[in-house]
Amino acid sequence: MPTDIEIARQATLKPITEVAAASGVPDEALIPYGKYKAKIDRDALPPAAAPGKLILVTAINPTPAGEGKTTTSVGLSDALHRIGKKTLLCLREPSLGPCFGVKGGGAGGGKSQVMPMDEINLHFTGDFHAITSAHNLLSAMIDNHIYWGNALEIDLRRVTWRRVLDMNDRALRQIVGPLGGVSNGFPRETGFDITVASEIMAILCLASDLKDLQKRLGDIIIGYRRDKTPAFCRDVKADGSMTVLLKDAIMPNLVQTLENNPAFLHGGPFANIAHGCNSVIATKTALAMADYVVTEAGFGADLGAEKFMDVKCRIAGLKPDAIVLVATVRALKMNGGVAKKDLTEPNVDAVRKGAVNLERHIENLNKFGINPTVAINHFYLDTDEEIAVIQEMASKFGTDAVICKHWADGGAGAEELAKIVAAKADKGADFKPLYPDEMPLADKIETVAREIYRAESVTMSPAVKSQLKQWEEMGYGNFPVCMAKTQYSFSTDPTALGAPTGFDVTIREVRLSAGAGFVVAIAGDIMTMPGLPKVPSAEAIYLDENGQIEGLF
Ligand code: ADP
Ligand code: MG
Repeated sequence: MPTDIEIARQATLKPITEVAAASGVPDEALIPYGKYKAKIDRDALPPAAAPGKLILVTAINPTPAGEGKTTTSVGLSDALHRIGKKTLLCLREPSLGPCFGVKGGGAGGGKSQVMPMDEINLHFTGDFHAITSAHNLLSAMIDNHIYWGNALEIDLRRVTWRRVLDMNDRALRQIVGPLGGVSNGFPRETGFDITVASEIMAILCLASDLKDLQKRLGDIIIGYRRDKTPAFCRDVKADGSMTVLLKDAIMPNLVQTLENNPAFLHGGPFANIAHGCNSVIATKTALAMADYVVTEAGFGADLGAEKFMDVKCRIAGLKPDAIVLVATVRALKMNGGVAKKDLTEPNVDAVRKGAVNLERHIENLNKFGINPTVAINHFYLDTDEEIAVIQEMASKFGTDAVICKHWADGGAGAEELAKIVAAKADKGADFKPLYPDEMPLADKIETVAREIYRAESVTMSPAVKSQLKQWEEMGYGNFPVCMAKTQYSFSTDPTALGAPTGFDVTIREVRLSAGAGFVVAIAGDIMTMPGLPKVPSAEAIYLDENGQIEGLF
């Protein structure tokens, strides 16, 4: 079996100008970044026709390797093209940090990849660097404000705005700075997060245009004053210059799949501390250009799809017309209690046992008014008996479950899925978010925990409750909640697989992302700066004598 990068090297890419022309992007709207990447200037696009249909790709609770949401999104999009549907794919840009940590990029796999995958996985078009710069400009301006007299009376102990870097570097998680004497400022405890965890990343992904971007940047809370009132980004007058740094990053990036079909890769917020979806701007641009738009949400459907619908769709006024729920025999076996090392052994009983996980996700998605289509992402060791169990189970809910072989065969392997999903999207769905805007924040958290995770009880300390009340009084009560918990289980215990019941969800902490426009509710550990593993994949990455990247994927 060739590796992803070997397949990628065999690809015959078209110049991005050709890909753009084929999808109706006029020359004047195309800003090429080299031969195979471009940004799209939305202002120069022709007027939009009726908006296309929005198709969300999500998944059951995954194995650590991922169950193929990105791969299936690419395969489905290529398959829709093959059956003659004008389609655009909208994905997230991968983060640099994980590339050098645990092996694996974020550009799909096998015959379903977006290209050029090495550039996409590395610096790409510089969006993440721009976000890093904008974030750190604000950090510098805060310390500078304090240095020059602190007219805002910011409490040095309560500066919440940290610094970011697009690198896994645990040494920077918690630091003390500025040290070194009078001319460097006032020492205080602070730290670094990875760029994808920055609120700027979430803002870039939720903003409707540059003006809205600047407003949201201004709304960021940077910390609290001596009198305990919040200090905002606009108080240190950073919002204008940050917007300048982001003016190109806000434009969607156009690339192509292995089958030369167009794809937008834009934005990549963390799926725990943020909502984990590609940008609203890219999604809306795509809906204006194509009849079908395929997009992906982070993690499993309990986290990713819920946030896609309750955060992204709510804030942007979008609605999904169809949902694809990716399931694999492997992950169902794992949910059925099989150890990771034994996943390659056929085990029909374990699939049957683990199918309760799939069942619950189907029920959950129906609560949003949409009966999903299950895409069985086929791995070559899967047996017919195991697959039959999945189909039988799905049929109980009137849900189609289709075998997809796009990883091995490209778009041709997902044509049946494409036909079913296109028909469902054409019919449309009666989408409704899980809770109304007006619901109190604590009730929103409880609703998600009970309805989606199926928690028996939800625990919030008096401190958490009074914090939520205070934000309601400050006018943030209409915000949706952005849940942060493990992606491996419905519960907060990553080892409780399948469809656990009878558990408690404890909300340890809540955070306000006033610029992005949501309240983060943290249930479990949350990592905003990952570390590298004992043997990072960076050790095996090098340029060979022909200048070709080796070891990246
Ligand atoms: P997700 O987006 O859900 O995290 P990805 O699409 O990135 O998952 O896939 C995770 C990994 O699994 C990738 O390395 C991909 O190449 C591999 N993969 C996906 N589908 C298959 C398949 N059907 N057979 C073998 N490997 C696969
Ligand atoms: Mg993915």
